[in-house]
Amino acid sequence: MTTETMDAGARTTGTGIQISGVSKSFALRGGRSLLALQDTDLHTDKGSFLALLGPSGCGKSTILRILAALDHPTSGEALVDGETPDQLRSKSELGIAFQDHALLPWRTIRKNIELPFEVAGRSVDKAYVDELIDLVGLRDFANAKPSQLSGGMRQRASIARALVLKPSVLLLDEPFGALDDMTRQNLNLELLRIWTEKPATTLLVTHGISEAIFLADRVAVMSPRPGRVKEIIDVDLPRPRTPEMMRTPEFHALVDRASELLFGVDGRAEAEA
Ligand code: ADP
Ligand code: MG
Repeated sequence: MTTETMDAGARTTGTGIQISGVSKSFALRGGRSLLALQDTDLHTDKGSFLALLGPSGCGKSTILRILAALDHPTSGEALVDGETPDQLRSKSELGIAFQDHALLPWRTIRKNIELPFEVAGRSVDKAYVDELIDLVGLRDFANAKPSQLSGGMRQRASIARALVLKPSVLLLDEPFGALDDMTRQNLNLELLRIWTEKPATTLLVTHGISEAIFLADRVAVMSPRPGRVKEIIDVDLPRPRTPEMMRTPEFHALVDRASELLFGVDGRAEAEA
């Protein structure tokens, strides 16, 4: 296991996610402002899988929103695979699944999953839509409306929608948050399979330390607000990853390292600055 501090870019070719000196402040009422990110650096390789861990409110979603072109940095630069988030979005190369599933309530699950084809002006790949619907276990609900599904099922639908264009960049913000452990583990395995088939430049925000290590090439651990990348853990477990690996000493050592960074050696999290 190797780790590096602060200069998160040193060991990559920097062709994937390139967040350089990004700060983000939000204007609050009464002329005050809140510094969510301060001079954050994060660099990965194209086609690599990065998981992002950090305490609540440290700016994880803000990073994802910036990479998804849903928000812009106050200063600094964010590029993915050499392009700006706006460029990637206009080319439909971004697959996004956020906590709030944001399915369109008036469309069926199938029509929601097909939506990215329509937005991109491409013809719908029905066979692949079917495959994804099966994959996330929603075959019996393909023609139902989102309101007829449980929260976990809606989340699975939004993951299918994020994958449907086989995007070169995947941004996942706690997509498995509301799911039970078994569904979560199954979806992790499927995500891994899909990613292995076509390695997208991936950023996954998660609360699950084991999940992060099981899936990722590198795990970035953030400090409390204002968020910065505290340390990067290189996950040198071989691929293909199998569930059995989660029972090895190497795996447990990586989980311990990440827990220590998040919660401190005494198990207590660092407070906000
Ligand atoms: P995380 O995803 O790590 O929990 P966020 O990126 O959502 O954290 O938020 C980081 C900080 O920025 C939090 O303190 C949050 O309240 C604040 N924040 C996020 N979005 C806004 C906004 N639009 N306006 C004001 N404050 C915001
Ligand atoms: Mg968040």
